[in-house]
Amino acid sequence: MLTELNIKGRIVYPSDPDWDTAHEAFNTRVDQRPEAMVFPADEADVVTIVNYARQHGLRVAPQATAHNAGPLGALDGTIVVQTSDMQNVSIDPVAHRVRVGSGVKWEKVAPQLSDYGLAGLHGSSPDVGIAGYSLGGGIGWLARKYGMQTNSVTAIELVTSYGQFIRATAQNHPDLFWALRGGGGNFGVVTAIEFAVYPVEEIYSGAMFFPFERASEVLHTWRELLPTFPDELMTWANILHFPPLPELPDQFRGQSYAIVMGAFLGEEAEGREVLRRIRDLGPAIDTFAMNPPSELAELAMDPPDPLPATSGHELLEELPASLIDELMSIAGPESDSGNSLTLFNLRHMGGALARKSPGAGARATLPGEVSLFTLAVVEDDAAARAADERIARLISAAQPYRAGEYPNFVEEPADASAFFDAETWQRLREVKALYDPQDMFKGNHHVPPAERIRQAA
Ligand SMILES: Cc1cc2nc3c(=O)[nH]c(=O)nc-3n(C[C@H](O)[C@H](O)[C@H](O)COP(=O)(O)OP(=O)(O)OC[C@H]3O[C@@H](n4cnc5c(N)ncnc54)[C@H](O)[C@@H]3O)c2cc1C
Repeated sequence: MLTELNIKGRIVYPSDPDWDTAHEAFNTRVDQRPEAMVFPADEADVVTIVNYARQHGLRVAPQATAHNAGPLGALDGTIVVQTSDMQNVSIDPVAHRVRVGSGVKWEKVAPQLSDYGLAGLHGSSPDVGIAGYSLGGGIGWLARKYGMQTNSVTAIELVTSYGQFIRATAQNHPDLFWALRGGGGNFGVVTAIEFAVYPVEEIYSGAMFFPFERASEVLHTWRELLPTFPDELMTWANILHFPPLPELPDQFRGQSYAIVMGAFLGEEAEGREVLRRIRDLGPAIDTFAMNPPSELAELAMDPPDPLPATSGHELLEELPASLIDELMSIAGPESDSGNSLTLFNLRHMGGALARKSPGAGARATLPGEVSLFTLAVVEDDAAARAADERIARLISAAQPYRAGEYPNFVEEPADASAFFDAETWQRLREVKALYDPQDMFKGNHHVPPAERIRQAA
């Protein structure tokens, strides 16, 4: 028990009746077992919690929504500080700036921004928290044009291991500001984030659905077109096996499709032209149209509610035709996969994701032409084992083209040093040693403090 921890917010222990809700992760196969779940009401609460943890030798895992709780691993001697009650939002539509409390999800911001003719760099799911998404990188529909969300962040407010409240910006604590943007929750509990958003009145967006049997043909055509796509266009090629849920429309319920989804910052005629060869394949359903940017939040049809899942991911230097054939032999219509993998997702990378912008954070760029992400919704351990085996085969087939991994897509414990080049990793560890020398904060992907800090740091 966290005796004498007095806060305005909530503390929930495993023995409490509301524990099940309090400790639930988005992936319900992840069973978070910290000493307690602590929900601060405001910044002052966070300072009190951090000081308490330091004085009592507890570790602190900061969290916003538990969308990526898997990598945290065991949480003995740890309290999870979930900032989900910190829900302030303010939008300055003239300056194109947004400020949010660190518990805010994209769904609370994207529709309002859209009404102002603005768009933030959110990803596929409106349910994801802005905090974790931004601190880890953030690849959304506008990423090839505007890069990762983390590099549109202009200020981060947090409480460090000394209980000090800091507003980190390019001018104030620039080393910490750099490290937070990619180094994640290893440096303190973030209480608020400010970021730039972009003028987008309308966007040509939608999805072309093809019968699953045509997956190979669709993926090959998409692959051939990648070098021709401008930075204004983001496309994904998916295989999606919709669950047999009664609430789904007839054409989706229990059905399987190969889908090319996309968002194009430009006029409809131009968008149609860049996607012409895919449309020429004759989709069964075509939803592309000029839309307000708010529609982007629903484009990927991500599940809104927690579910049991297992996943795999790799960034690929290139996607040769032979690799598509190999991947389809494991997960395509001719394979014996059935619908055991709910989602097979290829995202076009490159563009601004590959260019370092001035003043970028630790996650300045991401390598690779394509991101591979695959996920299976699994009802029990046997299904999870079967899905893991198939995911391992996909990842193994992709190995020769491996460019790295994007930490936000890695959903199990991993060695975070592999996510960064040696220099960036060393610098992250040195910033960690300055702000959290006792290694109190447990980010989902752990950055340990450097043993020695170089003179230059
Ligand atoms: C359905 C779904 C769709 C997704 N789509 C995309 C996508 O399109 N593009 C993309 O880039 N990613 C996507 N992701 C991945 C997503 O970016 C990561 O899961 C991200 O970590 C989620 O952040 P969170 O705050 O919601 O989750 P949390 O699990 O709450 O946080 C993850 C980590 O962020 C840090 N963190 C969170 N809050 C704080 C805080 N207050 N202070 C300090 N550190 C904090 C911690 O290290 C924490 O462990 C998706 C994930 C899901 C589940």
